[in-house]
Amino acid sequence: MRIVLFGPPGAGKGTVASVLVARTKAVHIATGDLLRAQMKEKTQLGERARAYIDKGELVPDELVIAMAEARLDLGDAAEGFILDGYPRTISQAEILDRFLSCRGHNLEGVFELQLAEDVIIRRLSGRRICPACETIFNVYTLPPKVEGLCDKCGAALITREDDNPKSIAVRFKTYQAQTAPLLDYYRSRGLLFAVDASAGAERATEQILKMLEKDGKAAPTKG
Ligand code: AMP
Repeated sequence: MRIVLFGPPGAGKGTVASVLVARTKAVHIATGDLLRAQMKEKTQLGERARAYIDKGELVPDELVIAMAEARLDLGDAAEGFILDGYPRTISQAEILDRFLSCRGHNLEGVFELQLAEDVIIRRLSGRRICPACETIFNVYTLPPKVEGLCDKCGAALITREDDNPKSIAVRFKTYQAQTAPLLDYYRSRGLLFAVDASAGAERATEQILKMLEKDGKAAPTKG
């Protein structure tokens, strides 16, 4: 499986990816998670990325592409990967195509998680993450068993720095301006599939697996 999960911030890409990982051999590669790990370790990359991330802007391509390629080249991605939050610009997409074709691979599909904007905003404001094991919760849709604590490791849950109203607004604008144009890029290559994400991660995952099972026979999104 070599796929991209696509959609605006808060569409549920991370949650769908974790359900997919549990059912397949593919690894979940989220550039947002990789960047946050760099920030946590206070590496040079993390410090450079922080200024962009906290404001809700995209981190420059040259920083993100090298990091994503290094991750894709690790052995565990050979069995397959689920890209989440990457690519996010046309140039990232073009470079990803070249990177994969040099290795004799290609993307099997780009799955656009579709969800109404008011639902997305509610999801983002309710999102909580575990700083230790990175599990995602949501106070409205996926609450932890004990309020404020991670089900898996017991750590105190936090709100992401960029899940504040100001950054959320910038992230939406950034998505429309720089990332949404990728829909046409993948649609014109016959790789784009629409997924109804309103019924939750399990149902969205079922749709993706069904489309992949059809092995390219599913009808890609038109127009
Ligand atoms: P995410 O966790 O995917 O919402 O990403 C959080 C933030 O990390 C984004 O708002 C960007 O600032 C940055 N980021 C993640 N992935 C990329 C990417 N592919 N290109 C540029 N910036 C990125």
